[in-house]
Amino acid sequence: MIRKTRLFTPGPTPLLPAAQFAMAAADIHHRTAEFRALFTRVLSQLKDFVGTTNDVLILASSGSGAMEASVSNLTSPGDRVLVLTAGKFGERWTGITKAFGCHVDVVEAPYGSTFTLDQIKAALKLETRVVFVQATESSTGVSHDIEAIGKLLKDEKSEALFVVDGITGLGTTHLDMDAWGIDVLIGGSQKALMIPPGLSYLAVSPRAWDRMESTYNPRYYFDLRKERKNAAKGESAYTPSVALIAAMGAALDYIAGQAEGNLVEGRKKLVDNAQTCAAMTRAAATAMGFRLFAPKGREAGAATAIMAPEGTDSGTIVKGLRSKFAIIVTDGQGEMKGSLFRIAHIGFFDYMDTIAIIGALEQVAIAAKLPLPNLTFGTGLIAAQKTFAEDPTVK
Ligand SMILES: *Cc1c(COP(=O)(O)O)cnc(C)c1O
Repeated sequence: MIRKTRLFTPGPTPLLPAAQFAMAAADIHHRTAEFRALFTRVLSQLKDFVGTTNDVLILASSGSGAMEASVSNLTSPGDRVLVLTAGKFGERWTGITKAFGCHVDVVEAPYGSTFTLDQIKAALKLETRVVFVQATESSTGVSHDIEAIGKLLKDEKSEALFVVDGITGLGTTHLDMDAWGIDVLIGGSQKALMIPPGLSYLAVSPRAWDRMESTYNPRYYFDLRKERKNAAKGESAYTPSVALIAAMGAALDYIAGQAEGNLVEGRKKLVDNAQTCAAMTRAAATAMGFRLFAPKGREAGAATAIMAPEGTDSGTIVKGLRSKFAIIVTDGQGEMKGSLFRIAHIGFFDYMDTIAIIGALEQVAIAAKLPLPNLTFGTGLIAAQKTFAEDPTVK
């Protein structure tokens, strides 16, 4: 049979055709009125996509570049910072903050879980300058309670800035930067925005801008104050990734088009879309007898992490989907390799895609004779169909 290659990975995600066309047509110089108009429009649209009145900047890097920029711009050597981690991306915060000479306190929860507010409260010091966390930990499929952590920092009257890696949280989870007291919220192009890797973006609060007046960790290419100055003129400090910015504009237009041109509403629909695909996938997987890695109520909309049955290797499923259907899903990262696989819902996925992956998963699981109690054709699909039919956000 013909096998169409399909990405079901939480970054890169499937590309939006309109964005690919926009990239191909983006033959513009970056110090021209044409580019300034494009860049200014995209920066303004990004505010609606992030859901903030704060400044938003775009950097020519993958998401980790904006993570590093938030550390280099907001800290000084020896600053006490608090990293909340329960997965591979949380550990990246520890790595970056250590690289910039911070004194790093870590609240760690086991993979597949999240931390408690009591743990955070106990680790928060008077001197804590910044708290770093993920909105959704893509390596485990767990979503952390950003609203509650923001409230805790407020209640404790903490001076700490609150920096959130929303790289897979944006476009899959409801996040309210301004109301929840988030100081920096970070996104990446190859996730919910349905365009290739290469751009990161971040929203920055007034408190964070103030902090940058006194911090002195080294920074040059990722100097946020310099980028802000240039952005105000419709430009970036260095040659921007023009084609990706054109693609981003097309993607934001597409998202606005989901709600008659209203980008804020369109973003909410994109979040609902991911949540519906995630709920269908969870229902299918549990009906088939799989166990989910994330605790109930804290499952990410970005991706679902599904455990391989006891005594089996998740690589069987990852390889089976690839060889039989050219479907790319990701295995667990690091120590989680072999024990789970992850199906993405972030960005350009729809009902059809979700039904397709569930059908393919049934085929692979049955062919591999996985030791699952309810393994017959249709068990997962029936559960997914019911979930879709009963979803109040589906109209
Ligand atoms: C994808 C991702 C990143 C960034 O990874 P890059 O490869 O640098 O784009 C960071 N955090 C999370 C939660 C992610 O999913």
